[in-house]
Amino acid sequence: MSYQVDENGFYGRYGGAYVPEVLYPNVEELRVNYQSILQDPDFQKELEQLLKLYVGRETPLYPSHFLSAKHGAAIFLKREDLCHSGSHKINNTIGQVLVAKRLGKTRIVAETGAGSHGVATAMACALLKLPCTVYMGEVDMERQAPNVARMKLLGAEVVPASSGSKTLKDATNEAFRDWINHLTNTFYVIGSVVGPHPYPDMVAQFQSVISKELLGQVPSLTGQSYPDYVIACVGGGSNAAGSFYHFLDHSEVSLIAAEAAGKGLDSGFSAAATFLGKEGILHGSKTKFMQTPEGQILEAHSVSAGLDYPGIGPLHAYLHDCKRVRFVPVTDCQALDAGSLLSENEGIIPAIESAHALAALDQVRFKSTDVVVVCLSGRGGKDLETYSQYSSSKK
Ligand SMILES: *Cc1c(COP(=O)(O)O)cnc(C)c1O
Repeated sequence: MSYQVDENGFYGRYGGAYVPEVLYPNVEELRVNYQSILQDPDFQKELEQLLKLYVGRETPLYPSHFLSAKHGAAIFLKREDLCHSGSHKINNTIGQVLVAKRLGKTRIVAETGAGSHGVATAMACALLKLPCTVYMGEVDMERQAPNVARMKLLGAEVVPASSGSKTLKDATNEAFRDWINHLTNTFYVIGSVVGPHPYPDMVAQFQSVISKELLGQVPSLTGQSYPDYVIACVGGGSNAAGSFYHFLDHSEVSLIAAEAAGKGLDSGFSAAATFLGKEGILHGSKTKFMQTPEGQILEAHSVSAGLDYPGIGPLHAYLHDCKRVRFVPVTDCQALDAGSLLSENEGIIPAIESAHALAALDQVRFKSTDVVVVCLSGRGGKDLETYSQYSSSKK
């Protein structure tokens, strides 16, 4: 059984490239070339150097004394929060901007919801000297003003999407429109393992550096070749795909994905796409997403902006159906409690996205000999207001 994408761009029944006909040549150009670019030794060398000297890899695998005592197993945190930009997202944007250059593209477009992917894209573009246009919903621009300021300081043009709900979905439409209007010179940088083939596979490969490092770190810290568990949060699913990648074929490694249940699975305010979603076509691929009986996309709700997405990438829809990965729902409150506890007891403030992965620890019964890796996908500096509102609401 293979967990890799097949030659038609599918993971089982999920995936593919469902794009407007005018975009087909661009997606096809990328599909035909991406593997040879990624495997080119010069490309790999350039990417490796940037990941080391600019992003700050490899990131530590930190044994958490607090979590180990609390859960009765050896619990390690993979510190993606220490990456430049504050999360794993930069692993992917640097890779894609390098691919864009290899394809001779001279301009980058992206869309962003909360702004993290927009900032990581703007950083890669500043570094690698390509002009960058980021589409962002007008409502999101207000909510995430500091990220708008960051992108502008980094030299990106931030264009407000003012149609519809003025959020991520509308920004995506605008970014697609821009791409269609600038087909020959523009590369579209996608921020998770979503979108038309080959994006999900390409993004998974760029993020797979996370589990590649674990292959060396786990044995040297524990004396055991593989971890017993790897746990990560899923929005679109890129940090999870990267954390799982090199363990997918090792069935002795249990893989757990924490999904945002928002105010609760039955509350109508949730983002748990595997529990509530059905198959359909979203953002260029066949996958699972939350929809009305008529197939309209439902709005997602999560306290963490990075998990506030109504679908999951096709790889994860497949991993869910074939039961290779266990998906657990985590509510806003459970995540905020887990994030607050780690801050107080370990001196690490996690992004609320990552706090979902920490909260998933409560839903597993570990043996005392278990080696458990939790991907701490990002840092919580951006979430201080949410944390402090939550803590005062409990008093
Ligand atoms: C964007 C983001 C996520 C969610 O995206 P994935 O593609 O599912 O990884 C998770 N954590 C952090 C810190 C993020 O910024």
